Amino acid sequence: GRKAVVAGAGIGGIAAAIRLAVKGYEVEVFEVNSYPGGKLSEFYTDGFRFDAGPSLFTMPHLVDELFLLAGKNPSDYFSYSKLDVVCRYFYEDRTRLVAWADPEKFAKEIAEKTTDSAENVIRFMKKSSEIYSITHHVFLERSLHKFSTYFRAATLSSLLKFSKIDPFRTMNAAVESYFSDSRTIRFFDRYATYNGSDPYRAPATLNVIPHLEQHYGAWFPDGGMYSITDSLVRLAKDIGVRFHFNTPVEEIVVKDKYVKGVRIKGEVLEASVVVSNADVWYVYNKLLKGEKAPQRVLEQERSSSALIFYWGIKRRFEELDLHNIFFSEDYREEFNCIWQKNRIYRDPTVYVNISSKCRAADAPEGCENWFVMINVPSDKGQDWDGLIAGARENILAKLSRNLGADIASLICTESILDPRSIESKTFSYQGSLYGSSSNNRFSAFFRHPNFSNRIRGLYFTGGSVHPGGGIPLALLSAKIVAENITDI
Ligand code: FAD
Repeated sequence: GRKAVVAGAGIGGIAAAIRLAVKGYEVEVFEVNSYPGGKLSEFYTDGFRFDAGPSLFTMPHLVDELFLLAGKNPSDYFSYSKLDVVCRYFYEDRTRLVAWADPEKFAKEIAEKTTDSAENVIRFMKKSSEIYSITHHVFLERSLHKFSTYFRAATLSSLLKFSKIDPFRTMNAAVESYFSDSRTIRFFDRYATYNGSDPYRAPATLNVIPHLEQHYGAWFPDGGMYSITDSLVRLAKDIGVRFHFNTPVEEIVVKDKYVKGVRIKGEVLEASVVVSNADVWYVYNKLLKGEKAPQRVLEQERSSSALIFYWGIKRRFEELDLHNIFFSEDYREEFNCIWQKNRIYRDPTVYVNISSKCRAADAPEGCENWFVMINVPSDKGQDWDGLIAGARENILAKLSRNLGADIASLICTESILDPRSIESKTFSYQGSLYGSSSNNRFSAFFRHPNFSNRIRGLYFTGGSVHPGGGIPLALLSAKIVAENITDI
């Protein structure tokens, strides 16, 4: 039969493998690590389970779709529950804000806790929804790099409404045109970090993100985030996909502008289709050495990275939920540090994710598994050991102050992930979380397409290519790959 090779078992690679198997390809997936999932992996330590990377799960229908496509019942593999409280927000002035999933309840919460009005929240969310309805066919669900996309009626109508998607001012400028309370402004500006961007530079088009979260909801996979990876790998195996772990693809083999296969342990394995799930920067610099690289694309500014402390905490905190944010007092300076100074602000916004709130088995009795993350610049050779030591002190002081407890004394186990280890574990250039950043109005057009313009049979999936980073977009990239595959 027709043979396809997928290089990388990240979520985009697994989804592409499933879609190709459904199309009738014989599919083999090669993964350099000993485990699947790439950034979406898990680990156990001292009785605690931690999801290593993503913690927020939106658009679950994109996962279900893969089971349905393969003729299976999604609930035989994977289940998830909707969150009523999306996130709890803590401010240094003692304000505590609850982001209710229910839009009216949330608007009321803003009106009660800040000086902004419920009406303005509703107006802002209406704008966010409008941006979504204009952009999603063009920017998310198809290739931006095929003429056919531009000749579709939906695309033309979107392009005619171009100014309505608000590309000419920044996210923050748009947010400030609706709200005046710094607490509300920080709340909405933070959505820029969902794809590793800077609200003070990213186009206001990205104000579509709150709509995605509210419309599709925030969910928790009952088995933890890793069950997304685990259930999709099981599905892939059930429909005949073969996985090879600890097996890097050493080269993508090309001849006369056609892909010929991949080099594995020095030998060429032939395939008519190769789908690369590795960061596109690595693909051109390591796997496609002799080929001309799209320099403009590879030189795009990278999205931000993260510093994460995985702490086992020997106490329970009733005031905390699955998702919690402790805001910086000076959000502008925090982003200035990340994007202009390439370092970490002394009062960073701290995100605490506690999966044991939803899945008791993730922590021993009376304990909680804290995933404590701040946004940091991508790796440009900073003195990370020094930066991390300082950040750890500042984070502990901030959490202790806000929660009225000495957090350091409650830590019973600690692991750390930083830009260097994100890069060494997932081959993401500079340790960035979402490939290139979306900090300018043209970023969407400078992401690599899902296919190669020069090499027939070579395709790209995952968070470093079109349409973007994050689980939902990585899943959509696999869908666009499958739709664009031409048999040769
Ligand atoms: P990746 O996970 O990047 O995996 C690529 C795989 O390819 C890796 O397993 C790698 O080992 C393998 N590989 C590379 N080179 C080779 C080779 N030569 N041969 C064989 N295998 C190779 N997204 C969300 O939706 N919600 C969140 O809350 C969220 N939070 C995040 C927090 C953190 C700390 C991180 C790191 C990411 C977060 N993301 C989040 C982003 C999300 O994890 C990624 O966008 C998504 O998982 C990327 O999937 P991918 O398909 O690009 O593959």
